[in-house]
Amino acid sequence: MMKSSLNEILSFNESFVKFKQYEPYITSKFPDKKSVILTCMDTRLVELLPKAMNMRNGDVKVVKSAGAQVSHPFGAIMRSLLVAVYELKADEVYVIGHHDCGMSAIDPELMIHHMIERGVNEDIINTVKFSGIDLVEWLRGFGDVSTSVLKSVDLIRNHPLMPSGTPVHGLIMDPNTGKLDLLSDGNEYLTKNHPADTTKIEQ
Ligand SMILES: [Zn+2]
Repeated sequence: MMKSSLNEILSFNESFVKFKQYEPYITSKFPDKKSVILTCMDTRLVELLPKAMNMRNGDVKVVKSAGAQVSHPFGAIMRSLLVAVYELKADEVYVIGHHDCGMSAIDPELMIHHMIERGVNEDIINTVKFSGIDLVEWLRGFGDVSTSVLKSVDLIRNHPLMPSGTPVHGLIMDPNTGKLDLLSDGNEYLTKNHPADTTKIEQ
């Protein structure tokens, strides 16, 4: 049987709370920097991303998905972004992909093969397929991280429920150095494409 980290986590947690190690992190649910970040679940970004962007506890909302992708316009990721903007006072959206992303190497056919190897019955895979779910398409990653980030940025900018005038930025992070490269500046985009909304924000 695999060794689970659950007990280790629970005993650490008990002493964390007992010795009030949470005190430096006390803050509110509203982001001080009024932003929401959508990024990848990559292990290298867990601490590096906030540090490299000078984000501390209380500064931002963070939504994570494999590859920082919004794969469905009415899925949980998009819903989280909308909740952050409408109910939690986030006024800007950052989509931050990264180089060497695991999602760019995902082979959907191979992953389905791994499911079968781990005991998912092939009949179940077929039932899912026959229910109209394109498993291969659903599991598909992306070839190029810039294209993928820009695709998500485009989807968020043009989402019918996203308030107009919300800057949506696209960036890529180096998972070793934390260096950010700007792909698309949401403010510039608004000035060019929705000048009326930009004026509204500045007033
Ligand atoms: Zn990734």
